[in-house]
Amino acid sequence: MIKVIFTIFCLAIISTNSFGQCVPVPNANQELVALNNFWGTNIPICRLPAGSNNAYADRNRGVVLADQDWLDVIAFNFGSFAATGILAHEWGHMIQGPYNGTAAELQADCLAGVFMRGVGLNWQAVEQFAMANAFAGDGHWSLNGHGTSAQRVTAARRGYYGYNGQIRSGLLALCPLSAF
Ligand SMILES: [Zn+2]
Repeated sequence: MIKVIFTIFCLAIISTNSFGQCVPVPNANQELVALNNFWGTNIPICRLPAGSNNAYADRNRGVVLADQDWLDVIAFNFGSFAATGILAHEWGHMIQGPYNGTAAELQADCLAGVFMRGVGLNWQAVEQFAMANAFAGDGHWSLNGHGTSAQRVTAARRGYYGYNGQIRSGLLALCPLSAF
């Protein structure tokens, strides 16, 4: 199932290259390489204008977009691995399939934790990301949000502390498409 998804994304990337410009995000170069290596993808990170204060996954175009200045502020406020975690969350969206809503957001948080553990980052990394998640949690539960602060923290930690090299289909058990 997930291999099929990867194939679809590879096709999407080919069409993206002829679609238009992708301004790189130099401060995310390490994450770019590490995320593509870990997940076996070839997804670019393209730059959003400063002041966008956002990062998101464009699955139709096969790209992750990010405001580098905003990521730098996140890194300043929560630690550099919080910004890493945000990019890893977007990769979670790229590989999870065509799902949206709160459950998909929490799955992406969990998959970000998986990545952090998988590339050998220590526990402080996931805690920096979890604190940024706590700050960005929804005030109230909804089906189309990002999850409450507590849920977002739990999802990130679940991926990190629960990952022990499961193959990709096994990740669905660790990071289900559901609330945490
Ligand atoms: Zn998201």
